[in-house]
Formats: sequence, structure tokens, C-alpha cells
Amino acid sequence: MTDASTEVSSDATTEPIIELRHVTKSYPVKGSKEVFDALSDINLTIDRGEIFAIIGGSGAGKSTAVRLINALERPTSGQVFVEGVDLGTLRGKAIRSLRTRVSMVFQQFNLLNSRTVYANVDFALEVAGYPKAQRRNRIAELLHFVGLADKAWEYPTQLSGGQKQRVGIARALAANPSVLLADEATSALDPQTTNDVLTLLKRVNDEFGITVVVITHEMDVVRKLATRVAVLDKGRLVEEGDVYDVFAHPQARLTKSIVEDSLHGRPNAAETATLTARYTSGTFISVPIGEHTAVGDILADVTRSTDLGFEFVYGGISALQGRSVGNITLLLKGSDEAVAAAIARLRESTPEAEVLGSEGVAS
Ligand code: ADP
Repeated sequence: MTDASTEVSSDATTEPIIELRHVTKSYPVKGSKEVFDALSDINLTIDRGEIFAIIGGSGAGKSTAVRLINALERPTSGQVFVEGVDLGTLRGKAIRSLRTRVSMVFQQFNLLNSRTVYANVDFALEVAGYPKAQRRNRIAELLHFVGLADKAWEYPTQLSGGQKQRVGIARALAANPSVLLADEATSALDPQTTNDVLTLLKRVNDEFGITVVVITHEMDVVRKLATRVAVLDKGRLVEEGDVYDVFAHPQARLTKSIVEDSLHGRPNAAETATLTARYTSGTFISVPIGEHTAVGDILADVTRSTDLGFEFVYGGISALQGRSVGNITLLLKGSDEAVAAAIARLRESTPEAEVLGSEGVAS
């Protein structure tokens, strides 16, 4: 297949639903004439039907991006498109209509505590102008979908955090949006409840084809849910790609560090110090594991022709989108030649393989 035909077939299956073109958002700095760029020249395309994550630490610009995508604010320069429409051209009613097509799920749920679960969802339908006669069936359908059919007459204060977020999702789905924007939707939840809510968001995407955009500071959320990810660091887009590729081959410094934290595969400085104190001889090498990493074959090969010995001393390998990803640390032992040969072969196959500091290790 030629490049051209590949391009045609991929164009036929992907269609941008959200696009940021050279978006900068600046805020005035108090007490000065300076401005501060919360987002700086961001170019980003999110395709219809995908689960896209925007990740970054506190102050990275995530909430600013959300406010631009649902037209709560306008960029200082650049353009934001949703379903092909430049949001800068929208006024009044058209902005309200956009917000029914791009609906939100919030970290703090934002439910109306004085209304029942049923009435919370009903309110969203009312705001969206949904015909009154059809609301009852629609609400039943939505509550069934999120697993809260038996909670319709309870009040938010009677629900657990996970249940509240299910109501938040039912409400966000009420008017059949094109995009569900989940802003730190699981950040207030415990790990098990987080998994349940992530599973529900995946079903929203699978069963209704709704594009899900997840805003998060947690790489685990990205790993479990998203297909593509953009990494924001101090208002700049530092990395973007397929979730598997970003995990297997992170490029930006920030991405490397958040991937390491999430996979727990590579020892940090303190753990490396513990390892080097525990093992009194040998050389540590950390090898990122990807789909085609052949650590076993290489070690078997070098062991056959030299006096190489080795131990697995640290690491973890997970499955991501059905493919292996992780990192293992080996302690290589034997003659200098054998260890050098093993390092050379491992690096040849995985250039990111790294010999760890050997302080405390007797040579
Ligand atoms: P995140 O959601 O990733 O934590 P934000 O988008 O909230 O980041 O903020 C990015 C940066 O922009 C922060 O340094 C924040 O202080 C600044 N910022 C956000 N909103 C405003 C505002 N309305 N006025 C001034 N500065 C702001």
C-alpha cells in the first residue's frame, strides 16, 4: 500500500471533533503590566469517537483548556473549533446549544443537593429543551445505564461519591452530547470507585460513540481509559500521541517522570540506593520493556557464550491496550567482558536501557 492510499483510508475513518489552532490564553498578572500565558500556542486535534486524555500537573493549563473548549472563555489568540465551528463566532443561544453538545462531568459532581437523583437528571433535560412528555422514559433509561435505577428518589447527600458521579454522568448524557468532558472526574474517589467510574466512561464511548475528553493529573487514568494523550507542562504541549507509544517511549522529561511513577517499573534514586546497598557486586541495568523487547533471548544468548550471570531485582510489566509495557532492572554478574557484552546487546535492542549508578557496589 502506498503512503497516499494509507492517508486516504485514515482520513475516511477519523474526523476532528475538537481542534485547537495556535491557541494562547493569557491572563493579566496582578499589580503589573505583564501577562501570564496559561496556555501557549497549543495545537491539538481530537477525533470524533475517541477517548482523549489531557494530562498535566497543577497549573499546567488543563482547566483553562476546558473553559476554552466549552466557550466559557475565549482564547487571547488562536481558534478553538468544535464540530467544525469556530467558537469565537458563537453568541448567546449558540453558546448555550454548544454546552449541550459538549457536556461536563466535574470533580465535585456539582449536583443540586435539594433535588432527587431523578430531578437532577430532569433538570439537565429541561435546560436542554427536551420535550417534557419524553423525559420520564429518558431518565429511566439513563439511570438504568449508570446503574442507579433504584436510587431515583434519593437525594445526593444519601449517595456515595461513586454514586454521585454516576448521577453526574447520567446528567451529562441526558441530552445526547457529542462530547463528554470529564474534568478530574475521578480525583475525589477512592481507587476501586475510580475504576468503576472509568469503566462507565468507557461504556459511554463504546455504546454511544460519544467522544470522551478526560482532564486529569493521574497517569493511571490515562492508562486505563484513553487511546490518545496530550501532556501539558506550564501551558505548553510537550508531548502528544497514542497512549501505548507515550508509555513505551516517553520523550519529554515530564512525561518520562509521570510514566515512571505510573508503571512503578524503574527504581527511583532512593530505591536504586537500597538496591546497591543490598547487592555487593554486579552492575545494574534498567531496561524499558516494549512490545518487541527480547531481554530473555539476549540474556540466554550471552549466557551461552560467556560466564554471565544475572538476577531480576526490580520492575514491573503491565499490559496496555493488549501490549506489554514496563521496565525491569537486572543485576549482571560475571567477568567484565561478559557484563560489557550483555550491556552492549541490551542497548542495541533497547537504546533507552540504562546502567544505574553503582555507588556502594564493589567492583
Ligand atoms: P490546571 O487546571 O492545569 O491546574 P489552570 O488552567 O487552572 O491549570 O491554570 C494555569 C495557570 O493559569 C495557573 O498558573 C493559574 O494560576 C493561571 N490562571 C488560571 N486562571 C487564571 C485567571 N483567571 N487569572 C489569572 N491567572 C489564571
